[in-house]
Amino acid sequence: MSKTQETTLEIDLSKLKHNFEFIKSNLHDDTKVLAVVKAFAYGSDSEIIAHYLQELDIAYFAVAYVSEGIQLRKAGIHKPILVLHPQPVNFKALIEYRLEPNLYNFRVLNEFIAVATDLKQTEYPIHIKFNTGLNRLGFNADAVNTITNITNTCSTIKVTSIFSHLAASEDLNEREFTVQQIECFKAIKIAFEAKSTSKPFAHLTNTSGILNYPEAHFDMVRTGIGLYGFGNSVIHNKNLKPIAALKSIISQIHTIQEGENLGYNMAFTAKETTKTATIPIGHADGISRQYGNGKACVFINNQKAPIIGNVCMDMIMVDITTIDCNEGDEVIIYDGQHTASDFAISAKTISYEIITATSKRIKRDIHR
Ligand SMILES: *Cc1c(COP(=O)(O)O)cnc(C)c1O
Repeated sequence: MSKTQETTLEIDLSKLKHNFEFIKSNLHDDTKVLAVVKAFAYGSDSEIIAHYLQELDIAYFAVAYVSEGIQLRKAGIHKPILVLHPQPVNFKALIEYRLEPNLYNFRVLNEFIAVATDLKQTEYPIHIKFNTGLNRLGFNADAVNTITNITNTCSTIKVTSIFSHLAASEDLNEREFTVQQIECFKAIKIAFEAKSTSKPFAHLTNTSGILNYPEAHFDMVRTGIGLYGFGNSVIHNKNLKPIAALKSIISQIHTIQEGENLGYNMAFTAKETTKTATIPIGHADGISRQYGNGKACVFINNQKAPIIGNVCMDMIMVDITTIDCNEGDEVIIYDGQHTASDFAISAKTISYEIITATSKRIKRDIHR
């Protein structure tokens, strides 16, 4: 691996393969895997990740918005792509790019049918989402009859799958609630299958749901964070490998005297002679201000260097008083050992937030 010379997100595709295979090892052979590649594949690089998973013969992809699906189609992704949160204004483009909508209430279902009919579609694949307790998107269970009355008599569309989403699959203290969601989804599935003339497949679990609720895999599972190397628990993290490492370098070293300040608004005042390093990564790169003022640490020569003062737009300053290092030396924000999850937890947030915030201006370096 070449020496780090600027802020770089290194992405290791062999770790992605490991994570994909680990997740598959938890499934029955006939359970399909959907890879969630929304938000630039959780802040990495959605085109490269999707191409690699397409080579590994993934069954399905999901993105949040239509624009994300269009980007993947233009990049040559031909596998089915479920759009989890489409807006009616984009339905025409969605159809043009053969993306498959999640339809979550009667307003969007009817609007989609109108647009698809206008475009002379037949049996266009759609996915119906049910709300089983998250109260975010989805039809309630009692909508099954009305939905199937519409979908059974409409040749424009075809219900390809029905699904729901768990609210707290990573939190085993909420097991009772999750089990209730699973039971609710099972009842919906039975009712839907009894009424529907199409034979939709069913899916419920995200990464933590896959790992914690093997009885709830149904026909397909949806994994996002697991592919990128996090399992939302110490035990599951052991089996997964973070695919990305965020590295930078020391631009300048300062020695400041007792009573001197550092950074904007004098947020840090030296209590003693303090050696500091300035690093070219800031809140515009995804290191939000919540990590400043001693909350999070970076690693230099494998030693902890806390971020001091306020995080700036394009840089952070860290305390290197006790670290033997030079300008130009490598800085690890996170990697496989000092993980993004640990970094996030230091500022009371979650791996999802820190990794998806990784700005597009950070160089990506892909390793196969
Ligand atoms: C983002 C998302 C996922 C992926 O969840 P992970 O916890 O990252 O595995 C799955 N399903 C839906 C509906 C989502 O929005």
